[in-house]
Amino acid sequence: MDCIFCDIIEKKESAEILYENERIISFLDIRPVNYGHTLVIPKTHYENFLSVPQQDLAALIEATQMLSSAIVKSLAPDGFNIVVNNGIAAGQSIFHFHFHIIPRFQSDDFKFRPNLKTYGDGTMKEFAEKIRLAVTS
Ligand code: AMP
Ligand code: ZN
Repeated sequence: MDCIFCDIIEKKESAEILYENERIISFLDIRPVNYGHTLVIPKTHYENFLSVPQQDLAALIEATQMLSSAIVKSLAPDGFNIVVNNGIAAGQSIFHFHFHIIPRFQSDDFKFRPNLKTYGDGTMKEFAEKIRLAVTS
């Protein structure tokens, strides 16, 4: 399988690695929204959020929090986004699961301003009911 992130994990491809442990690795995004834009990925290849098993997910979340803290401490951004794109329609371009940590500044020109919809009569209930029926615990 051809995967640039697997190549980074195997050190066949270079990257600015920030941190790694037995389950995850983190490195700078090569095309940052803002400098310091960081990726956190599992060392095992999973396509998206739904396919990551619990133990790897826990390790990813823990590392993402630690690295967010390091970014805040070292770069003093005004805020930061944690983003996951799942599927082409959502903007995923590398099909090896990853969290983005994006440092944000009041003056940056990164905009995520969707055209927000309004629910029509009864449709909010309908959507909630559909999702509730699919919820598993
Ligand atoms: P996504 O669009 O959510 O799949 O994000 C993939 C991200 O990987 C993009 O922001 C790319 O800039 C980044 N990327 C692609 N190739 C590399 C690479 N060789 N090293 C670091 N980041 C990369
Ligand atoms: Zn991979």
